[in-house]
Amino acid sequence: MFWKSDHAEKEEAQTDTDLDDLRKGIEKAKLPTPVNLVAQKELERLEKMDASSPDYTIGLNYIDYLLALPWHAFTDDNLDLKRAENILESHHHGLQLVKERIAEYLAVRTLSSVADFQVLVVDDEEIARTNLAYVLKKDGYRVLTAANGLEAVEVLKQHHCDLVLTDLKMKEMDGIQLLEYARELEPRPEIVLITGYATVSSAVDALQKGAAHYLPKPIDLEELRATVRGIHQKKVHLTMTRSPVLCFAGPPGTGKTSVGCSIAQALQREFVRISLAGLRDEAELRGHRRTYVGAMPGRIISEIKRVGVRNPVFMLDEIDKIGQDFRGDPASVLLEILDPEQNQRFVDNYLDVPFDLSGVMFIATANAVEKLPEPLLDRMEVIHFPSYTAREKRMIAKHYLIPRQMREHALTSRKIEFTEGALNKLIENYTLEAGLRNLERQIATVCRKLARIYVRDEKDDPELKVDESLLESLLGPRKFTHEIASAGRQVGVTTGLVWTEFGGEIISVEAGIMKGSQQLILTGSLGSVLRESAQTALSYIRSHAEDFSIDPDFFSGSDIHIHIPSGAVTKDGPSAGVTIAVALISLLTRKPARRDVALTGELTLSGRILPVSGIRDKLLAAQRAGVKVVVLPKANAVDAMSLEPDVTDSLEVVFAEAVQTLLEAVLGQS
Ligand code: ADP
Repeated sequence: MFWKSDHAEKEEAQTDTDLDDLRKGIEKAKLPTPVNLVAQKELERLEKMDASSPDYTIGLNYIDYLLALPWHAFTDDNLDLKRAENILESHHHGLQLVKERIAEYLAVRTLSSVADFQVLVVDDEEIARTNLAYVLKKDGYRVLTAANGLEAVEVLKQHHCDLVLTDLKMKEMDGIQLLEYARELEPRPEIVLITGYATVSSAVDALQKGAAHYLPKPIDLEELRATVRGIHQKKVHLTMTRSPVLCFAGPPGTGKTSVGCSIAQALQREFVRISLAGLRDEAELRGHRRTYVGAMPGRIISEIKRVGVRNPVFMLDEIDKIGQDFRGDPASVLLEILDPEQNQRFVDNYLDVPFDLSGVMFIATANAVEKLPEPLLDRMEVIHFPSYTAREKRMIAKHYLIPRQMREHALTSRKIEFTEGALNKLIENYTLEAGLRNLERQIATVCRKLARIYVRDEKDDPELKVDESLLESLLGPRKFTHEIASAGRQVGVTTGLVWTEFGGEIISVEAGIMKGSQQLILTGSLGSVLRESAQTALSYIRSHAEDFSIDPDFFSGSDIHIHIPSGAVTKDGPSAGVTIAVALISLLTRKPARRDVALTGELTLSGRILPVSGIRDKLLAAQRAGVKVVVLPKANAVDAMSLEPDVTDSLEVVFAEAVQTLLEAVLGQS
């Protein structure tokens, strides 16, 4: 006879309880039918398997994972628009257009979700029918009635109903037959069956056939109302997500994440954020198949599991930064996730069953939307977050960033005040950015150092003024100087304005000529469009040399080198054309160029100056760099005129239609 060892017996008992627990868990979880089938099948497989095999643990973890997902859990949206507006307003200074767009977006979604919830009540007893209709109408639903299945079919042919509430036993056509008919309709209404105690088994049958719920007779009105409310809520949050995905675009630190967070707060939803920067592999988003050792679900499903609800606000950060070497097609993976048509049946490779992501409110963020593939951009509604002016930065620092950092550094009980001068210095000399990230970091550094001073010196006096000199002693010497704009005149060196994903940027263009064989050398991480601009500028000057009193043969026996420093930042776009042309003319005429005049504009071969984009961001960059004069294409005058006065403050703006105007501004007398 074979006796099992004590150890083996214990192990077997443990296995049995594991599987028992899982079985109970599966019953309790009320998984959607296809998922339930998969879970049951996996459980059967485990029952036949040796518990010590690695496959057993994999299977166990898999079922555990399925059970832990929020298949049904979601939070109810707070659709109070006034409250949403207040939250957005109180968390963010300015951003008026952004706030308006978001309020409109929420309003449309709210309207479309609560507007037309229509219920069809089907019962052959008139009293029951009228009573049910009365109760539901009182709760605000629109109600239609029918006295039997056949009548109901006629109503459904003419009206769209979101919910059919039907008695099971009826002459002519019963509830099950009606259910079978309604199941084929598009869009499909939800069905709730009302049944006497005697027919509970057929009600269970009805559930399997796709009914949403059944209610026993006599009807408990509270239960009825709760059931209808539940189904209505489900529709609300599904339709809430059927509008285009929002994409927040703008330089870093302009408030994209924090506005996303406020939207979640306003709707009372959970907030999740993942960054897609440098993402290499589809599997990171969509998981690995379970056949891989150490397979895991992707980040989308893991985050859904972590928050425990199926309708969070989900921010996909930096979708324009998906790694260059991404394996697979990023646009199609993102569409599967973002597009409500497709994401209803999102399949994570690990789960291998569809999970409905249509309840999730996705918000994407990007620094430069131009980089996004067209099909993806088509499905998104882009909201632009502009760069901040110095005045806005001061306001935000004073009212939001400093109070927050004080709280985070336990300094609220002290009366610390930043003087206007210190704030200006902080913004002008310690940061050089379109957004607020570094400013917030510098404020945090000041707070940290102040905390240390308080503790070290056992300072009792709670009052402290942070002025310019204290600031300098805390942060060290200034980090940024206006070196470009304050440099004197130079031959062959001009100042330009370009737009990058960090906002507007100031560049200098250096041109040199040397003996050689008619080569144009271009350096400084220049993109292809910028390279073409340089070639165009050179050809323009060669063909118009005499207009500028330049020897037409200047290129024979020579090489020309154009360099745009700060090679770490890739530069591209047509807007440096005029800056390059003026640098070349300055070089070839030996006339020194003013560095405090910044240019932007596209130059054509015939010398026309074409308009460029990002005027606001470029003017702000010019201000930050201490530039005095900005020359813009004439066609951009409308853009410049519509800007708030803060943006052009301290700048002289000149509009140019011809190269001559550029030359007067840069090479003329100042
Ligand atoms: P992004 O996501 O665009 O990079 P963040 O949302 O992280 O930017 O913003 C950086 C910081 O600046 C955050 O602390 C944010 O709260 C703050 N901030 C940005 N814009 C505003 C604003 N308009 N009002 C108040 N605080 C702001």
